Amino acid sequence: MSASSPIVQPKPANSAVSNAAPGPRDSNGVIRLEALEKTYVLGEENIVRALAGVNLTIYEGSFVAIMGPSGSGKSTMLNILGCLDRPTAGRYFLGGEDVSRMDDDALSDVRGRRIGFIFQSYNLIPQLTVIENIQVPLIYRGQDLKASRDKCVELANLVGLGNRLDHRPTQLSGGQQQRVAVARSLVNDPLMILADEPTGNLDSRTGAEVLDLISRLNAAGKTIVLVTHDDKIAARAHRIVQMKDGLIDQDISRR
Ligand code: ADP
Ligand code: MG
Repeated sequence: MSASSPIVQPKPANSAVSNAAPGPRDSNGVIRLEALEKTYVLGEENIVRALAGVNLTIYEGSFVAIMGPSGSGKSTMLNILGCLDRPTAGRYFLGGEDVSRMDDDALSDVRGRRIGFIFQSYNLIPQLTVIENIQVPLIYRGQDLKASRDKCVELANLVGLGNRLDHRPTQLSGGQQQRVAVARSLVNDPLMILADEPTGNLDSRTGAEVLDLISRLNAAGKTIVLVTHDDKIAARAHRIVQMKDGLIDQDISRR
């Protein structure tokens, strides 16, 4: 990162949140999955159990990597965690609220208020400037953009793009575009950030910069859940949840 790179104040070492024990502020976890199932019925004899009864608690301030072979259920789980999809059975508590039975409107409201997304392909809107892209989640929530402009400028500074506010995505490098997406993911001060292969489209140096940024957000207290197939990326997380056949095969925490 350049000299103007974002600085996120790390938490004091002694406040590090362990993944193995309940966090101090929310003993039930930011995320709690209970016997979560997702079944796709493709035909009478063709039923896919994409998630086959997952139990998982993720505590505030964690940095969790979800890994596993293709078809093991990672995307299905991330879609449900992100309130983009609903489970077929079981429960999902997000910030203590049961979101597993919500209708589409309620679910999209939760999604807009409580979850920040970072996608592999950035998903910026090409016609909008950097600052406008950061504001997009606020537009969905009908917030006053003038009043929130200062906050969005602050976020652009945080990701090292304070001098690129009026650029459009095509005028930015891939790493810069992903940093816009990181800023956008923070604008609603979400309970957690979900990242799906966030460095998958970046070269290794730029990817490492974006990963540094995500690590710093976590050091400042943000809960991060990241899907990756890359061991080096997963090594930055404090906990690795390994999926297999729709279930958690291994769950390793370390500090
Ligand atoms: P991963 O992200 O780990 O590669 P997925 O969550 O995408 O795995 O898929 C898990 C399983 O569910 C796979 O067997 C996949 O074929 C199946 N699956 C995923 N989405 C659908 C769908 N919309 N309809 C039917 N089967 C699906
Ligand atoms: Mg997938």
